[in-house]
Parts: sequence; C-alpha cells; structure tokens
Amino acid sequence: MKKIDLRSDTVTQPTQKMREAMFHAVVGDDVYEDDPTIKELEEYAAKIVGKEDALFVPSGTFGNQLALFTHCKRGDEVILGDDCHIVMHEVGGASVIAGVQLRTLMSDKGELNSNEVAEKIREDDIHFPSTGLICIENAHSNGRVISMENMKSIYQIAKSRQIPVHMDGARLFNAASYLEVNVVEITKYCDSVMFCLSKGLCAPIGSMLAGTKNFIDHARKKRKLMGGGLRQAGFLGAAGLIALKEMRERLKEDHENALRLGKELSQIPGLEVFLDDIHINMVYFCMSQTGYNPDRLVEEMNKRGIIINPIEDGMMRYVTNYWINQGDIDYIIKSMREILI
Ligand SMILES: *Cc1c(COP(=O)(O)O)cnc(C)c1O
Repeated sequence: MKKIDLRSDTVTQPTQKMREAMFHAVVGDDVYEDDPTIKELEEYAAKIVGKEDALFVPSGTFGNQLALFTHCKRGDEVILGDDCHIVMHEVGGASVIAGVQLRTLMSDKGELNSNEVAEKIREDDIHFPSTGLICIENAHSNGRVISMENMKSIYQIAKSRQIPVHMDGARLFNAASYLEVNVVEITKYCDSVMFCLSKGLCAPIGSMLAGTKNFIDHARKKRKLMGGGLRQAGFLGAAGLIALKEMRERLKEDHENALRLGKELSQIPGLEVFLDDIHINMVYFCMSQTGYNPDRLVEEMNKRGIIINPIEDGMMRYVTNYWINQGDIDYIIKSMREILI
C-alpha cells in the first residue's frame, strides 16, 4: 500500500530527476571552494532572491543560527516573534551559538506590530544590550503568509535605525506563490534570508543563506566553525539546483490540495478547520468537538496507510507535498469521514 505522509513537507523524497542528477554530479572539495555544482547553486540561489551571494548550509536551523551568529556579537539582542521557529524549534541555539538574547514580541498570527518593533529597538545606554538584529518569518510555520505591508513597515523602521533584518524563509517560495509575486518582492525587505531546499522543493538535504557578499564571506568562515564546511557537497547541490529550477512553480498545487482538503474536512461535524489560515500547504484543525480521541485518529489513519503527527497544543496539522496527489487527497477525506462520522 502506498503511504501518504501528512506529517510535514520535510518528509519529501527526492524526485527521480534529482537522484539522477546526484549520480552524475561533478563535485569537488567545497571547503576549498572547489565544488562547481555548489558554486552554481550558490550563484543561482543568490540571483533568484536578489542578493549578492549565497551559501549552502546543512539545514534551515543551521542557516538561521548562522545568520544570528554572523549579524550579531555576543550579548546583542534580537527582536523577533514569540511563535517563530528560531524561538520555538531551534533548541535554544541562539544562546549557545551566537550568544544572543532574544527579545520576543507577541506575534499576531505571525506578524509583528511595527510600532512595537520600533519601541523595542534599544537606545544607547550603558545598561542596555545593543539591538543586533530583527527576524521575521515568511511563510510562517503557522501556515500563514506575512503581508507585504507588514514586511515593508518593519524593514523601513529597521533601516532608519540601521538594524539588519533576517528573514526565516524556510518556505519562502510558498509565500511568493501565495502572494503571486516574484520572490525578490519579498526578499527586498530583508538583508539576509534563509530558505530550505529540503521541504516542499523535495531536495533531500540543505538550505541556503543569502545576503551581501561581505555578509556571506563572514558566514562562510562561521559555517566552518559550526562544522558545516562540507566537502563533496555537490551531490546535494545537484538536487538543490533542480529544487530551485523546477520545483518552485508547482508549489501552488500543494496549496490547492491543502485548501480543498481543508474545505472538505470542515464539512465533518465537530471538526473545526482554520480555513482562513490555509495560505500555503498546511491545514490546521481542532477536533475536540468531535469527542474522538486524537491518539486513536493517529492509529486509525495509520491502518489506512496515512501517517499523521500526534496532536500538538490542541491542534492537528496536515501538510501536503509533491508526493500527495489529488487522488490521495480524496482518499484522505474519505478515510477521515469513515473514522469520524
Ligand atoms: C523547517 C523550518 C526551519 C528549519 O529547517 P530544518 O531544515 O528543519 O532545520 C526553520 N524555519 C522554519 C519556519 C521552518 O519551518
């Protein structure tokens, strides 16, 4: 039986074309900057996000932490949302690696209030830490896309106070697809951006960090310190190039599938689906009103070949991806109805 994996878009396997490209990849030692495939990937990645340079990193977490480490000095303060990935899901790395203090603002569904950001930027005072960085996340891991206006207003404030902005764009291309803009329209509101090759874009491993040439030169050395200087990384780069060249445009199919799944699930009595939050490939719902045990749902779905995550903070999350087609969506809906009605 085919397995349908709704846990995340990180579960995506590489495509056949990626596997072939990896097999044939021309590689070299990338610490010596000798890997032509990684060079090509870094140039291409920088170009599509409108930055001077880019760097291949092992993971999204690595890229974010490297950005903090490169932008900030120890003891600096970073302004960011209380529900962002850097705060919630990176193991407290900011305090261990960059040695920075995180100043969290309460986010409104992923968006920071720009006036509050302005207020929280530190003045020069012997008692105060220096504000080293502002981070935003787009698309947000709550499934929503941050508006252009919000990004713009935060960026303007940051520029007026000479504070850099880093964007956690793990799902940057999902955001561009939702907003129906070229990705540079988003990345023009940040100084550095991290985006994942290994999520909806299907590459097996890797993320990119992009920014100015000077920033990337410094980040390259810090990447080495962090143990992320990889040798024949072109095998991964080859898959990454296909991810960026061929897999970006189709993300809208995942979004359409998620929206249809969400709408159909909302028809099931007692299931509260957060339809307004389905901007990309994620469907969040609450099942407490059904009276059905969420752990049992996991088991029953598993029996039908559908893998789902257990409940987290009272919410279930289903994520669509390249390997889940329209027929699979029908089957998921049918299975949910069978179990819950
Ligand atoms: C997945 C994700 C990351 C981290 O990526 P990993 O490759 O899993 O380390 C960072 N930020 C956001 C918003 C993510 O969704």
